[in-house]
Amino acid sequence: MKTTSKYETIGQILSDFKQPAYRYGQIMDAIFKQKITEYERITILPKFLREELAQTLGPHVSSVIPVKELTSQQVSKVLFAIGGGERVEAVRLTYERGWKSYCISTQCGCGFGCRFCATGTIGLKRNLTADEITDQLLHFHLNGHALDSVSFMGMGEALANPYLFDALTILTNPHLFGLGHRRITISTIGLLPGIDRLTREFPQVNLTFSLHSPFDDQRSELMPINKRFPLRDVLNALDCHIRHTGRKVYIAYILLRGFNDSIEHAKAVAALLRGRGAWERLYHVNLIPYNSTEVTPQSYLPSDPESIKTFVRTLKINGVNVTVRTQFGSDINAACGQLYRTE
Ligand code: SF4
Repeated sequence: MKTTSKYETIGQILSDFKQPAYRYGQIMDAIFKQKITEYERITILPKFLREELAQTLGPHVSSVIPVKELTSQQVSKVLFAIGGGERVEAVRLTYERGWKSYCISTQCGCGFGCRFCATGTIGLKRNLTADEITDQLLHFHLNGHALDSVSFMGMGEALANPYLFDALTILTNPHLFGLGHRRITISTIGLLPGIDRLTREFPQVNLTFSLHSPFDDQRSELMPINKRFPLRDVLNALDCHIRHTGRKVYIAYILLRGFNDSIEHAKAVAALLRGRGAWERLYHVNLIPYNSTEVTPQSYLPSDPESIKTFVRTLKINGVNVTVRTQFGSDINAACGQLYRTE
């Protein structure tokens, strides 16, 4: 599997052919400003160079090939073919005011086996390369869509893939995607080494921790990773992240009827997040209504509206910042936790 990004390879080709320094800028202009999708069509370059690029990197600028697209009013889900005959998915969400947000994949499948998650049923096929991660966004960019914000919440656990950090470097490079760090969100089930590295290397990138239960034994049942990285250790790492970055940390909590949506759960969530220190106000809970899907290892049901209200009220009374996240896209299985290989 190729692990050097195409941007590095292009630099290498230019230097091998002793090309003038401005060539790199010309190619990046062609890709990012003129949105040219094939190397052959970058006609500002000499023919031999276009041929060399196409021969080394393939004819298309993007390494992920769209094979299927499902679109509803605000959501578009694209299935991409990647090397090795595999498939991954990315989702584009369009908000009312035209803001476009993307949910992209970092792994093909996932090996962590969370009980509520469709992707987990596939098992881990492989990590995506930095090109395969960033090309999901490049695809949308080349097709004329603005890249306003991006979440790493598609298939896979972002912090389990070391190429994620190369992808972040590419996405935030002002000569390439030029995305602001604060427009990027990494979601994790709590991989401590990855959280520490993100804190050190990309402190301004948003971090979301998937909690889903405040009780260690129940969380271990729901998310086996909890046995390796228990809740309290993760929360200590998140405290460090907040102290180091001064940034909010989001706590994602999927509400599952009769499982984790009781008042006791809400009180325990509040107890976990309070009394941590002056920075605790920077914890923000996002409650996520569950999307039922047929392929999760265990079947859960969405909480009823009354329980959701009580849960919110309990958190608020106990001084916790909370938002119920609006879900859209469940009609085309594009909501979080439903990305699944459909072919
Ligand atoms: S929730 Fe995330 S980490 Fe858990 S199985 Fe699904 S993709 Fe993997």
